[in-house]
Amino acid sequence: MPTFSNPSEIARETLRQLAAKRLSPVPENYRAIYHEIAGTAGEAAETFPARELTALLAALPKETAAQQRLTRRFEPAFKGKNWQDVKAGLLELVKQLGQEQETPWSELFADFLRQWESKQAGLTVARKREAIERVLSGATGNNEVLFSRLQGLIKSWASNAPVADELPLVDPEASAQAAPAPVSATAPATAVVSLSSDEMRELFAYALETLVSSQLDDEPEIAADARTLAHQIRTANSPALIEGVKTSLKRIAFRLELLTEDRAELRSNLLDLLRLLIENVGGLVSDDRWLQGQIAIVRDIVAAPLSLRTLSDAESRLKEVLVKQSQLKQTLTEAKDSLKQLLADFVDHLAEFADSTSDYHDKIEVCATKISKAENITELEDVLEEVIRETQTIQLNAQRSRDDLRATKARVSEAEQRISELQSELDKASQLVRHDQLTGALNRRGLEEAMDKEVKRAQRRQAALCVALLDIDNFKKLNDSLGHDGGDAALIHLATVIRETMRPQDTVARFGGEEFIILLPETTLEDAQTAIVRLQRELTKRFFMHNNNRQLITFSAGVTEFRPDDNQASVTKRADEAMYAAKEAGKNRVIAV
Ligand code: GH3
Ligand code: MG
Ligand code: MG
Repeated sequence: MPTFSNPSEIARETLRQLAAKRLSPVPENYRAIYHEIAGTAGEAAETFPARELTALLAALPKETAAQQRLTRRFEPAFKGKNWQDVKAGLLELVKQLGQEQETPWSELFADFLRQWESKQAGLTVARKREAIERVLSGATGNNEVLFSRLQGLIKSWASNAPVADELPLVDPEASAQAAPAPVSATAPATAVVSLSSDEMRELFAYALETLVSSQLDDEPEIAADARTLAHQIRTANSPALIEGVKTSLKRIAFRLELLTEDRAELRSNLLDLLRLLIENVGGLVSDDRWLQGQIAIVRDIVAAPLSLRTLSDAESRLKEVLVKQSQLKQTLTEAKDSLKQLLADFVDHLAEFADSTSDYHDKIEVCATKISKAENITELEDVLEEVIRETQTIQLNAQRSRDDLRATKARVSEAEQRISELQSELDKASQLVRHDQLTGALNRRGLEEAMDKEVKRAQRRQAALCVALLDIDNFKKLNDSLGHDGGDAALIHLATVIRETMRPQDTVARFGGEEFIILLPETTLEDAQTAIVRLQRELTKRFFMHNNNRQLITFSAGVTEFRPDDNQASVTKRADEAMYAAKEAGKNRVIAV
């Protein structure tokens, strides 16, 4: 094959061969045959697409330092038309891409955690969780989609951050879980708050639905209007519709205002009614000391700020008063009737007897005069007959009176029997009562019920429940020196101090003679011990006064926490053992186990 050194000869020969080989005259075919003839085939220098690659290089991103370094890395390779350098640059680029894919995920998670822990306007933890579940379920198996959706979600959370003092629309449970975001004092408020109008609408509608309509169970009409308005707020997209929303909002606000006033008035009227009722029940039972005490307690309960717990306490005590009241009324009516009858009978007999004896005396006196004036025996006989007749009559009367009195006596003992039967019925009824008659604390029956309730509540809320058992120190000595009534007054004093020192939600019960049990819901063992020690101190400050003498009462106590495998008996036993340990250790102390 002849060799051509002149490029124009090579070009001519190339065209000839193209025609001879019947190849189409496209640049690729021309270039291939040209290099074959010139002997330069295989050298890529001529085929290096420098222009295209330079354009590509210009289009590569150069936002980060790493990207700029990479693009610079390609420049000499392109200039030198060196495929080896291009290859090395490409390898580096691919490696860099892999690394870049890892970095955004870790950043994304860091952002996510920051936003999860921050509080945002209108977002509760529950709502955040819901949004995440939606994102996760909508992007299964596709990491890129998941990445971008999560990124979008985090951005939307970040744009909802409230200003420092703004109260977010969160429920109490959620706000307890979500730690407040630390807000820098120097950060401008606008940096944290930026709500779009759509977000504002959604928040507004959400607040209206949850806060308003949930409070309107007994006002279905207003509740329905509130829901309709929430829908309008979400969808109003023209000035006319927005104007309509404004009008509806004003109307509903006005109706709510009226409703709130009505409710406040209703509540205050109901309370007045309850107080009136209590005063009157108090008046009805003026002859029973125990009932008076119970009524006073109910009155105190109603005087305190109302809560569901105080209302149910008042209700249970009122029920007891009513039961006892009706029992007492029956006993008293019967006893009064019997006594009235007895008295009436007795007075009748007295009158009859007095009548007949004074009549007898008058007649005997007349007979005596007749006897002194009698002139003969016949006259005397007549008078004597009269005396005998009158004496017989009075004897008969006396006999009848004795019989009547005997019958009355039998009726008295019958009435006594009935009264004692009623008394024992009353005692039985009293056993159904839940409060101790002396101190007003719960009795054992009441304690059993209360403990059952508290244990269930603690289990439901997974909260701690503590039980404390108190026993007065040296009570026998106190009883000996002050007498039984003095001892009773000391028990009442202790129960009063316990009630006034412990929290309203703590339950106080008289467990036995001078032993009390206190239930402390939602309290750890450590806090329960502290509370009982505080009670001990309070008792040393508030002396029990007896006959103008100060008497110091102390107690020993055992405190324990209800455990999952406990029952009422086991937890009480443990508290009792701890109380005995406190006695052994020298009394006037609190031991927690
Ligand atoms: P300790 O410090 O060991 O507890 O000594 P104590 O004297 O308190 O001993 P104990 O517990 O055995 O005594 C309880 C006494 O409480 C016996 C009983 O006479 C008296 N008591 C029980 N119930 C009543 C009550 O209703 N009224 C009065 N006044 N005394 C009561
Ligand atoms: Mg005792
Ligand atoms: Mg004792």
